[in-house]
Parts: sequence; C-alpha cells; structure tokens
Amino acid sequence: MTKQTFAIIGLGRFGSSVCKTLVDGGAEVLVIDRSETKINNYKKIATQAIIADAQDENALKSIGIRNFDHVVVAIGEDIQASILVSMMVKEMGVKHVTAKAQNKYHARVLEKLGVDKVVRPEREMGKRIGKSLLSKNMLDYLNLSPNIQVAEIKVTEPALADKDLAKLRFRNHYHLNVIAIKRDDDIIISPRADQELKLNDSLLVVGQTADVDRFSQSMN
Ligand code: ATP
Repeated sequence: MTKQTFAIIGLGRFGSSVCKTLVDGGAEVLVIDRSETKINNYKKIATQAIIADAQDENALKSIGIRNFDHVVVAIGEDIQASILVSMMVKEMGVKHVTAKAQNKYHARVLEKLGVDKVVRPEREMGKRIGKSLLSKNMLDYLNLSPNIQVAEIKVTEPALADKDLAKLRFRNHYHLNVIAIKRDDDIIISPRADQELKLNDSLLVVGQTADVDRFSQSMN
C-alpha cells in the first residue's frame, strides 16, 4: 500500500498539533503558512514547509495541492480565507478535506462546500471534558453516529463485581453490549456470557448514548 500524503494549511495551535501527531505516526506532511517564523519553526519537523498565502490559487496549484490524499485547512480566525481555501482545494479535486470551523455558521458553509470533515475543536473538547466531569467513570468515548456511542467505563460499583454478564443480565438491564474488558494489562475481547466482572475493570461498551450515560452515571 502506498503511503498516504497530508498537507496542512495554517500552523496555529490546531494545525501544528495535527502536524506533530501525523509526523510522530510516520506520515509525510507538507505544511503551508504565510508566516515565515512559523514555517522556519517547522522546517525540521514537517517533511516540507512552504511559506505561501493559501488564498493564492496559483500558489496552491504550483505546490500541487491536488496530489495530496488529505488536506487539513487549519485557518480559524480569518473565516473568509478558510472558506475560500476550502472551496479551492475541493474544486481542485482533493478527496479528503478536513477544515476547522470557528462557529456553527462557518461550519454550515464548509459543509455546503463539500468539506468532508468539519471540526470545532474547542466545542468537541468542551463536550468531552463536560462528560468526564459528569461521570468520572467514563474514561473515553467515540460517537459512531449522533445517537450511538462506544465508551470505556470503569466498574466502580461493588454490586457488579464478581458476577458474570449473564447473571447481571447486562444486555437486558443496561441495553448495552460489552465489546471488550480491560483488566490490568489484559484485554478480554468479545467476552462470553459467563465472563465475570471485577472491580476496576474497564468495560468497552456500545449502545445508545443515553444508555451509555445512564450506565456510567449509575456508578458515580
Ligand atoms: P488555533 O486556534 O489553531 O491557534 P486560529 O483559529 O487562531 O488557530 P489563525 O491564527 O487564524 O487560527 O490561523 C492559524 C495559522 O494559519 C496562522 O499561523 C496563520 O499564519 C495561518 N494562516 C492564516 N491565513 C492564512 C493564509 N491565507 N495562508 C496561509 N496561512 C494562513
């Protein structure tokens, strides 16, 4: 399989963090920013670092942006620039474009332009922190759709300990499926009905978001 290529436009806190994560994961990453200082700081980190104003269509063409598998538009504050650049990279035929939006109106415009993934990092992180404050047992979660979630929840309720999933009538009682159980350094994948739970196990469950919340809060 050929290696995926990534281009990041804008090296603010968001773009630079995406860049470092991709580089740490072994990916080839091109970064573009109009600030010379920012580009100089990334010359040793990214595979290629180019000073350019991404609103300049010719600059994007000569960089060959359309040849990248993924382009991340990480311009936030200048909404007009973010919209124009996102529109141009989509028009040039880039398959996967991710763009950061400042607010819900900005997000709607980006979606209309065909941006494949619109992210609002502060909002998403705020939700995550809020959830972890509501339930300290919810260690992590992933939304599969607006109503379906996979979550990692710690067993802190003694009533669940040393009983198997069948005895707990787990699926009927909580309306959740247990996909895996993390216990110390072990992971029990697709546990059987006779699998016992232990205090401090981490359960990877899938189900309706409301049921996930109910289960995790039942152990607070
Ligand atoms: P963050 O929250 O991620 O720090 P932000 O939302 O504040 O970012 P900006 O500071 O507006 O976003 O932009 C991030 C980066 O994008 C900056 O380094 C800026 O120089 C760069 N940038 C903005 N507009 C352009 C453009 N037209 N062409 C190239 N780079 C740009």
